[in-house]
Amino acid sequence: MMNQIIKDIAMNLTNEVIDFTRETIAIPSITGNEGSVIERIKLEMEKIGYDKVWIDDMGNLFGQLGSGERLLAIDGHVDTVEVGNLENWNHDPFKGKFENGVIYGRGACDQKGGLASAIYSGKILKEIGVPGDITLVVVASIQEEIYEGLNWQYIIKEDRIKPEAVVLTEPSSLNIAIGHRGRVDIKIRTTGISSHGAAPELGDNAIYKIVPIVLDIQGMDSILPVDDIFGKANISVTDIRSTSPSINATADSSIIHVDRRLNQGDSLESIISEMEGLDSVKTAEAKVFVPEHEYKSKNGFVYPIKAYYPTWCMEESHPLVQTAIKAYQTQFEKEPILYHWRFSTNGAATKGIFNIPTIGFGPGYEKYAHTPDDQVPVEHLVKAMEFYTSFVKNWGNFKGYGSIS
Ligand SMILES: [Zn+2]
Repeated sequence: MMNQIIKDIAMNLTNEVIDFTRETIAIPSITGNEGSVIERIKLEMEKIGYDKVWIDDMGNLFGQLGSGERLLAIDGHVDTVEVGNLENWNHDPFKGKFENGVIYGRGACDQKGGLASAIYSGKILKEIGVPGDITLVVVASIQEEIYEGLNWQYIIKEDRIKPEAVVLTEPSSLNIAIGHRGRVDIKIRTTGISSHGAAPELGDNAIYKIVPIVLDIQGMDSILPVDDIFGKANISVTDIRSTSPSINATADSSIIHVDRRLNQGDSLESIISEMEGLDSVKTAEAKVFVPEHEYKSKNGFVYPIKAYYPTWCMEESHPLVQTAIKAYQTQFEKEPILYHWRFSTNGAATKGIFNIPTIGFGPGYEKYAHTPDDQVPVEHLVKAMEFYTSFVKNWGNFKGYGSIS
């Protein structure tokens, strides 16, 4: 049986995937500093025997297997968040300590472990064969932790690589993730006219104009709609600033930052008109806008991104989800759990912006991501290797994708 063959090969690769995961954890790769770990992973892809291995101009790494017409991507970001206060760690975050079947360190679960499993599933596929009409690219992407999906905007628009489906290796406790809520950063600015503090009536104080807006938003959170998948949406004011010629003068501008968490029905347009529709915004003639960030990497690479990360959600009946369920059932002989991540991922771009069918499956528990307990069980690494392999095999069996998306 195919599932037993995959299981046996994965079992034999256990030590290799442990060593590789530990080694990549030991190479720090905080967002913007991914070069060294990308080079190390490239070597491993070459050693395993990927048909083609390359790095794009942004710094994302690709390993290709097979040469079929249908492009399938498995994506894992290599960057991690910072370590925070070292005193909170029981293990060196950059050693990849291995103890009682668990690997510890920054990025263990989010998500160097998942990426290692994906890369090593390539080794299994080398042995049992990639389905004839499939080209598989395993992508080690960069700069996810600050602007999730920026990498895939680049890959799709600049590299012109557009797969028909994407599997994300973010930690999912070996469950099948089919979406997450989105978020958008909003700025609201009021302008005024400064006057001497001794004669405020001669000016137009921008702070007095923004305060009613702040209060409106505060009152709004509790009445935002609830949806059946993601629960209640959220809104909060997270920053406020103002300018004036001196503290002896009334403010001539004020700006707030609004963090809005999105549900299924929310779009960039709907959120902006929701804000513009507030009486306080109209009265103050305030400007509502979504900032564009320019992300600059260490080697000088600059790419603009709008601070909008859409909600995405796959239907359970979609062929991609059905294939993932089948891959899980055939490999593990039990039913998978389907769920939605709490955090945001590159799926915000692949599915949220570009509507490429996307799912997630990864080793490790979401609750350890970004914590000083960052860890991944070896058993998960092996199971994830099995799943990715089984998924590629099953995706090869599926022929009726057509125009569904
Ligand atoms: Zn992640």
